[in-house]
Amino acid sequence: MNRPGDADSVTGARDGHYMRRAIALAERGGSRPGFGPIGCVIVIDGEIISEACNEADSRHDPTAHAEIVAIRRATESLKTTELRGATLYSTLQPCGMCTMASIWARIGRIVFGAGRRQVHKMYFEGRHLDTIDFINDAFRDDLQVTEGVLCGQCAALYYKPGEDVPFAEQTNI
Ligand SMILES: [Zn+2]
Repeated sequence: MNRPGDADSVTGARDGHYMRRAIALAERGGSRPGFGPIGCVIVIDGEIISEACNEADSRHDPTAHAEIVAIRRATESLKTTELRGATLYSTLQPCGMCTMASIWARIGRIVFGAGRRQVHKMYFEGRHLDTIDFINDAFRDDLQVTEGVLCGQCAALYYKPGEDVPFAEQTNI
């Protein structure tokens, strides 16, 4: 796994550019009833193929996480089930479902901002299992992960570890 400082400056600048777009999507999602403050952008060859925020409440669909919605939009628009060469940017470390979906979609690289240790535990389904372990254990060995891009700005979108979360906004706990 790479951290932002490991990437060359061109990749780092590019990652920052797309992550800023994901943050804008997350901010818009967080301000709209039925949508959530997680933003995702899928990029192939420098072109944004799809983007989304969390749409679970508005769709009455618990699987409509930003990453799932963005993957579906990308595969539908390209009429394929494989997103080889794609980079998925997410403001928050993808959950288990979205990590698995990325593996099945043959996404080449996952870039996320805030990691699970920087946000409240309710955003993840497992007490201890880190979704990075799914990737490390996958049969695929060509999926790259970069964490911590614009980490502070991304983490500011979410409840902090141990923070009191209003009952109406609690998920998964
Ligand atoms: Zn998810």
